[in-house]
Amino acid sequence: MTDMKKAIVIGAGIAGLITARMLSDYYEEVCIIERDELPAEPSNRQGVPQSFHPHRVLPRGGLILEQYFPGYNDELIALGAIPSQNEKFVIANRYGTLVNKANAAASSFNIASCSRALLEWVLRQRVQSIDHVSFLTSTEVTGLMVSEDRHSITGVYTKKRGRDHRIEMLAADMVIDAAGRSSKLIRWLDEIGIPVPEPEVLKVSLGYSTRYYNIPSSIQNEWGTVIAESDPEQGIRAGMFWRIENDIAGVLLFNAGGNEYPSTDPDEFQKQIKQLFASHEIAALVDQLEPLQGPRGYRISESVRQHFELMEHWPSGLLVLGDAFCSFDPIHGQGMTVAAIEAETIGKCLEAQRVHPEPQFERQVLLRMQQEIEPAWWLSSVADLRWQGVEHVGPSRLKGVTFAQKYINLFVKQAMKKSSQENNNRLFFMNFLMNALILPPSEFFKGDILNLILNDNGSKEELELRAELGIEDPELFQQRIDEIIPSFQLEPDGRIQKMLDSLRLAMSK
Ligand SMILES: Cc1cc2nc3c(=O)[nH]c(=O)nc-3n(C[C@H](O)[C@H](O)[C@H](O)COP(=O)(O)OP(=O)(O)OC[C@H]3O[C@@H](n4cnc5c(N)ncnc54)[C@H](O)[C@@H]3O)c2cc1C
Repeated sequence: MTDMKKAIVIGAGIAGLITARMLSDYYEEVCIIERDELPAEPSNRQGVPQSFHPHRVLPRGGLILEQYFPGYNDELIALGAIPSQNEKFVIANRYGTLVNKANAAASSFNIASCSRALLEWVLRQRVQSIDHVSFLTSTEVTGLMVSEDRHSITGVYTKKRGRDHRIEMLAADMVIDAAGRSSKLIRWLDEIGIPVPEPEVLKVSLGYSTRYYNIPSSIQNEWGTVIAESDPEQGIRAGMFWRIENDIAGVLLFNAGGNEYPSTDPDEFQKQIKQLFASHEIAALVDQLEPLQGPRGYRISESVRQHFELMEHWPSGLLVLGDAFCSFDPIHGQGMTVAAIEAETIGKCLEAQRVHPEPQFERQVLLRMQQEIEPAWWLSSVADLRWQGVEHVGPSRLKGVTFAQKYINLFVKQAMKKSSQENNNRLFFMNFLMNALILPPSEFFKGDILNLILNDNGSKEELELRAELGIEDPELFQQRIDEIIPSFQLEPDGRIQKMLDSLRLAMSK
């Protein structure tokens, strides 16, 4: 990377939009190439078939989006999105049902709930208003231009969609692939003689079924969010009830493992709602609503994490992020937030490179991105591997899965108990912050927390975990934890630290 003149971003999905915004701080010219014609109003489009289904931004993603698109959340709310502040919030699992316990944590982030189409439209309008960012729509990228020595990517080949089959060339100093799950990057690299390592794959075989409803104006508008957690050990699906703009509510059913996908038949869907935790709460809400159409399904066979950082000769002038780099089980709501984390990481690396240029810049960026996404990948894999039939394959084994599954179960049990019986929400907030990708998972495996979770006069499982960890001997204990759990090498983030400090203060009151 010498002079930063022109960057090309492939795909105008969420990852592409955040990336283009970030790159506009560094490049004289940024061009987003998108195969779809982009709608003038918020609406779903062919290139992002998942957009029909719920899309929530996690708090960490909200922080990053607010930095790149100041006021975006207020803009969404002005357009009808539902603020999370003061929203009624129910969460249910095998340990019970909590009402409004998450509000304090959720309120401190205020993430608006809306359709994916509205979120994408608001972000796109912002990017479209940047002078030196252009959009090339109805145009598909078909390959990568490479230097003669194959060390650098120098641009892309494109073709207009429709009848015109002419291939055009577009040169750039940097090409960033944000083409999502349907990215052809591996094929393009192969075509220019650059083989890539085997990815990590989570064979997840998951199914979604989503149905939308009208909230009639006669009904008081006091609907909140209901989260019914899954219980893979008992084969119980996850479910969610939530609201979006235009007086619309949605219900989602989910399970992984490839067994009995959630139904898209309206009657069966209704029956399956009754098998969820919080079934009573969700069914009572749905009974008063008017269905907008039959439920619609979505299936994913695999989550894939590429490991391009392992390549000794990754070409310069090429980066990749979003689902094209690592895709996740969407039930954990991580994809857009991870895309934001990756875009921010690239931004930090570009900033550092401007001051102290280093060789192998792109490979270092990929390595840094891998470290940043490790918590999301590990947490969602640990959760998904609880479903029978889900399998992890890859060059290296996932660390600490069985231990973490047992431990997190106990953690959630204690969090629910302390919240409901003692009105002590500390563990509940911690769990919320870990799943929000604010708090690294390593925070859960510290001595004082472990002592809260694993009682010395607790259940057989608690005692077994205590013994396994050598909890009485701090030195041995830390050594065991380091062996079991990944190290999560995250760069300190002052903004998150500040937020955690103020949350801790609020929680201690
Ligand atoms: C059912 C479902 C529910 C989800 N729910 C959530 C959620 O609640 N929260 C969350 O954070 N994430 C969720 N996700 C994940 C989320 O959709 C993605 O992680 C997120 O959109 C980031 O993806 P992306 O920008 O990399 O890809 P996408 O959003 O898929 O965008 C890729 C873009 O690239 C374009 N494109 C592809 N190939 C080419 C080409 N060759 N040339 C030009 N353009 C091209 C496509 O048309 C598209 O516009 C969900 C996913 C699914 C499947």
